[in-house]
Amino acid sequence: YVTVNQLTKRFGDNTVFENIGFQIEQGEFVTLLGPSGCGKSTLLRSLAGLNPVDGGEIWVDGENITHQVPQQREIGMVFQSYALFPNMTVAENIAFGLKMKKVPAATIAKDVAKVIALVELQGKEKHYPHELSGGQRQRVALARALVVKPRILLLDEPLSALDAKIRKHLRQQIRDIQKELNLTTVFVTHDQEEAMIMSDRIFLMNQGEIVQQGSPEAIYTHPANEFVAGFMGHYN
Ligand code: ATP
Ligand code: MG
Repeated sequence: YVTVNQLTKRFGDNTVFENIGFQIEQGEFVTLLGPSGCGKSTLLRSLAGLNPVDGGEIWVDGENITHQVPQQREIGMVFQSYALFPNMTVAENIAFGLKMKKVPAATIAKDVAKVIALVELQGKEKHYPHELSGGQRQRVALARALVVKPRILLLDEPLSALDAKIRKHLRQQIRDIQKELNLTTVFVTHDQEEAMIMSDRIFLMNQGEIVQQGSPEAIYTHPANEFVAGFMGHYN
């Protein structure tokens, strides 16, 4: 589980968020939803340790990780763009993080095979990223995030570069895997339909604030204000 207290992040004199706080339960799938520029990616990157915060605390499973470097945090992350190593095969891309951690080769082979099966990429082990479709590349990215057995999975618009059909399939696949592993997940999107379908809870953000948090049903049927109602499509 994740507890965030009074978290503040600024870039120069641009305050992205200030004194933001929330809790995420073990195994929960939470979606950060909100318009472009509201601070979703910045918040996610702060959880990952990719941008240092200016105040507040981040706790995971009762441990204060606020000042840990990314590698210490046991977090898996997938971004919108694939960021795979082009000169490495699927299996090598997935194995990379384990090799860095000096995990024995036999364990690496076993763990890589396991996540390849999980994301349904059997047969693609020796392929290079340029030989894969966009959806397949995102599944490699997901496998690479999962192979280190993260305590939290952070997903920043992992589906937005994909076409509608693949996207729907991958939504379901991510959700199935997340449930199977009981993995605490923070998912970022600006697509309200995606948020409605996938989430246990939605944190609706606007201009660096979490304006409302609740189940998709609660947010949709009881929007806290006009912004939420508008964003959830009541005025479309
Ligand atoms: P989108 O939906 O477009 O991805 P977002 O909600 O993820 O938007 P962020 O990328 O978190 O938004 O940006 C929030 C604010 O922080 C913006 O005003 C942006 O200009 C600023 N910002 C983000 N990253 C940096 C950076 N590295 N340096 C300076 N300002 C930044
Ligand atoms: Mg973003």
